[in-house]
Amino acid sequence: DDIIKQRDKIKERMSRIKNKIVVMSGKGGVGKSTVAVNLALSFNLKGYKVGLLDADITGYSVPKLLNLSSEKLYNTDEGILPAETTMGIKVASAGFLTESEETPIIWRGPLKASLIKEFLSSIIWGDLDYLIIDLPPGTGDEPLSIAQDIPDISGAVIVTIPSDLSQRVVRRAVNFARLLNMRIIGIIENMSGFVCPHCGARVDIFNSGGGEKIAKDLNVPLLGKIPLDPRVAESGDNGIPFILAHKDSEVSKSFMEIVEKI
Ligand code: ADP
Repeated sequence: DDIIKQRDKIKERMSRIKNKIVVMSGKGGVGKSTVAVNLALSFNLKGYKVGLLDADITGYSVPKLLNLSSEKLYNTDEGILPAETTMGIKVASAGFLTESEETPIIWRGPLKASLIKEFLSSIIWGDLDYLIIDLPPGTGDEPLSIAQDIPDISGAVIVTIPSDLSQRVVRRAVNFARLLNMRIIGIIENMSGFVCPHCGARVDIFNSGGGEKIAKDLNVPLLGKIPLDPRVAESGDNGIPFILAHKDSEVSKSFMEIVEKI
């Protein structure tokens, strides 16, 4: 009975969100969370109403990236109020439930699944144009929960870097999404080349052309390439959203072009 009630509640809340987009990667460290946050910011800059669900329960990093680490979630009669950035992006993360950023969340699959259900059924997103869902790397519990609980996911964006290893694991992520009947919106190649700030020369740190190849092999669109820029890591560490601080950078332009294609 409670399960049915919860399912109905999820349906009701999700029906008010036009586009639900999951951000996945085959492996960690490729910039998936950075991409998820900057996609949310890019849609927000374009004037859309945006929410960001950090579905990486044990490895959450969205609060830090948006400088919301000290936020908490508040219960009301209508549900749970998400945190909100100064630009008005609504954010939910398991990080808002812990005492400090250093407190680990040690949970097995079923608990993670129930927190995701709780987030989906209780968070008051209201009417949104886009809900960006940052999934943990790989094909574990959370992506499975999200895929099963959200009735009409618009599609998956898959983040990779141009290394051979990342290209191999990205196939797994694509196949996983396909098995779950999720549409694949496309692949984003992150850390794609580096322009030396001193001499201006372009260096392909992890190889080049990998994104095109994998997109072609798997028959999915390549949404864009985001170059390596040391300022991205720096602004992540400072909690200052990169594309707000450096609107004219190659990275910001790439993001704005990518959201046009989504
Ligand atoms: P994931 O979510 O895939 O584990 P993160 O988003 O946490 O990866 O990114 C891993 C690290 O790489 C972070 O320190 C982040 O700031 C950095 N990073 C991500 N994308 C870029 C980029 N395009 N240029 C420079 N650093 C980046």
